[in-house]
Amino acid sequence: MSLLDTFIGWLAPHVCLVCAQEGSLLCSACQKTITVLPSTCFSCQKATTNYQTCPDCKKQSQLKAVWRVAPYSGLAKELVWRLKFTGAQQAARVMAQAFAALYQPPATTIVVPLPTATSRVRQRGYDQAALLARNYSKLTGLSCLPCLARVGQQHQRGASRQQRLEQLQRAYRVKRRFSLAGASVLLVDDVTTTGASLRAAADTLLRAGATQVSAIVFAQA
Ligand SMILES: [Zn+2]
Ligand SMILES: [Zn+2]
Repeated sequence: MSLLDTFIGWLAPHVCLVCAQEGSLLCSACQKTITVLPSTCFSCQKATTNYQTCPDCKKQSQLKAVWRVAPYSGLAKELVWRLKFTGAQQAARVMAQAFAALYQPPATTIVVPLPTATSRVRQRGYDQAALLARNYSKLTGLSCLPCLARVGQQHQRGASRQQRLEQLQRAYRVKRRFSLAGASVLLVDDVTTTGASLRAAADTLLRAGATQVSAIVFAQA
């Protein structure tokens, strides 16, 4: 995939999405124009420090914090689209740089991509969250552990809210060969809406022995 990306890069060099300067998908000057979301609780949007979950929401969610770079609109939306459809490697690099500018986790943190629905991965040939996590761990020097798998397929159409929540609770499992005992985990994804998937994944990781789980997401829809 990245080889293909490089090849396409030769044929048509990447130009900055904003100012059209040649060289990368988003030049370093324009990277600074990505709107940064203020620090809030991911669940109720109350102001908190370091994107931490507020004390009230902590009663229902074990996610310690959800770092979010930008609102899902404009340039951020364009980058997410690129990550899924064209110039994925370049988009992943730009987004990972934005992650690193927002948050430098402690060196012992383990980066875990939130797996995308497998049918979508099959269509596309790669998992965008995994690509994002790999780029971020390369930049920060953290280890990346793709230890989560999706359980079955989600059949959410027509399901009630309660049924959807129950399906989500069983949506992830830790692959057998991975041990998470004592781990401090940072989940990585491209877009979040309610944070329900992150929450379900965090529960799974904690049940598997992780001591603490936070997340970093590029865009908040
Ligand atoms: Zn530019
Ligand atoms: Zn809250």
